[in-house]
Amino acid sequence: MYRSQNCGELRIADVNKEVTLAGWVQKSRDKGFMIWVDLRDRYGITQLIFDEARTEARVMQLAKSLGREFVIQVKGTVIERESKNNNIPTGEIEVLVSELTILNEAQLPPFTIEDETDGGEDIRMKYRYLDIRRNPVKNSLLFRHKVAQEVRNYLSNLDFCEVETPYLIKSTPEGARDFVVPSRMNPGQFYALPQSPQTFKQLLMVAGMDRYFQIVKCFRDEDLRADRQPEFTQIDCEMSFIEQEDILNVFEGLTRHLLKKIHNIDIQKFPRMTFDEAMRTYGNDKPDIRFGMKFGELNAIAQHKEFGVFNSAELVVGIAVPGAASYTRKEIDALIDWVKRPQVGASGMVYVKCEASGQYKSSVDKFYDQADLAKWAEATGAKEGDLILVLSGPANKTRAQLSALRMELGNRMGLRKPEEFSPLWVVDFPLLEWDEETERYHAMHHPFTSPKPEDMHLLDTDPGKVRANAYDLVLNGNEIGGGSIRIHDKEMQALMFKHLGFTPEQAQEQFGFLMNAFQYGAPPHGGLAFGLDRLVAILGGQETIRDFIAFPKNNSGRDVMIDAPAPVDQAQLEELSLALALKA
Ligand code: ASP
Repeated sequence: MYRSQNCGELRIADVNKEVTLAGWVQKSRDKGFMIWVDLRDRYGITQLIFDEARTEARVMQLAKSLGREFVIQVKGTVIERESKNNNIPTGEIEVLVSELTILNEAQLPPFTIEDETDGGEDIRMKYRYLDIRRNPVKNSLLFRHKVAQEVRNYLSNLDFCEVETPYLIKSTPEGARDFVVPSRMNPGQFYALPQSPQTFKQLLMVAGMDRYFQIVKCFRDEDLRADRQPEFTQIDCEMSFIEQEDILNVFEGLTRHLLKKIHNIDIQKFPRMTFDEAMRTYGNDKPDIRFGMKFGELNAIAQHKEFGVFNSAELVVGIAVPGAASYTRKEIDALIDWVKRPQVGASGMVYVKCEASGQYKSSVDKFYDQADLAKWAEATGAKEGDLILVLSGPANKTRAQLSALRMELGNRMGLRKPEEFSPLWVVDFPLLEWDEETERYHAMHHPFTSPKPEDMHLLDTDPGKVRANAYDLVLNGNEIGGGSIRIHDKEMQALMFKHLGFTPEQAQEQFGFLMNAFQYGAPPHGGLAFGLDRLVAILGGQETIRDFIAFPKNNSGRDVMIDAPAPVDQAQLEELSLALALKA
């Protein structure tokens, strides 16, 4: 038996017990006649004591050779500590060692295995197995496990069945590039790794499984934006014989369950907002509603004077920054510079100070009088003491810029509190999205999403206006998940592919299997997927998902620990019939 207890278990009530412990040497203090060692494992730290007066000389000698991160086993007696440590649960006791076995020696680790380490990101990733020994990372993994387990409990209780779907598949278009895997047995042919199990879960509905879920890896070969991983995990779900309302209720319930179990927070009904409203009031389809600063559109009240910049703009829109009328000229200029940075891209910004005296002072006093500015204050909800900031230009761009400013101010002013959780549903997404580059419509969610029946008639005349039965769950300014009611009719699916620019032959070749399946009794169905990595990070009060992934890739998509991706040798290429392809 390697151990009778773990390193986090022993308490004052265990005094006088004979125990065997095993773990890693966190640190040791050698006073000559006495040596203390902090022994660590996943469960905690227990102090060991070697005492010349009570421990055999042979054991004493061996204890002096212990280095950091040595793996050892000790036998000994639990005794009460003289100087207690109230910071750790085992702090009232120590183990007086009688026997010591070195199970494995260790080289000096390249960074300190402590909560606050001296190791930078790169070195910690290279030695991730050492990084995981540190509490913050280890606890994140345990936390992720807990969330995943609660998800499984909740969904299993509602009759969802976890079904595994294949990883070696044919491409599923979800807007990103596929990772491809060459097939040795089928020269010149490739599998694709799933961007999501979308078509498979729909086939499971045709198969009558009724309620499916899977905690599943998905793969997307996207240009890596900050805090994205090429492989990530979804909580993927699908249900039959349901309407949008049923899905929102089930997954609102799941989210509520998680907030309750993990943070003991009760959240009542989640607010709902249409995509249009989210864009108009927050300039964003994933608004952070933990704080205000809602957009006020000013076109009607700002385009009647001589101010050409506003008059020629598609949209004039502002927000009221609470308490910011006291900003100095310098502070306001800094904000103007901030929105003019290329990352934001505004060409300028107008401001109005709503002074305590009831007076308005603005950068456009030349054009607008007090009565005009009072209307702006009303439209943006500005009170005395607030600062109104106004941007103008093409509607979509201007909304995105003002949204970036709003989020930045929210951060700076401490309004995005990690311990506060404000979920909401964004519903009625557009079905299609115009792509400037390819000059055609793309499915905003994916091609299997059903248009709203009442908007169907617009498909031919005004496709951009067609709304979908598609929804996103947003939490604290992050899209946690999204899904839709699906098309379950072959003709309708074929029509959708036509609108997306597929010829009937292309549609048949790529998705014939799905459309054929729809001919064999496909039930009405729909579903959604949550991003587990982000959900866990937000529930854990952190912004970055990397800490919650055991072996993440870096910003260039590399695993620096195993050094992947890497070239393969010529023989392997030949076997895969890739050698010629490369030469050609
Ligand atoms: N497959 C979709 C996604 O990955 C989710 C869904 O529609 O259920 O975003």
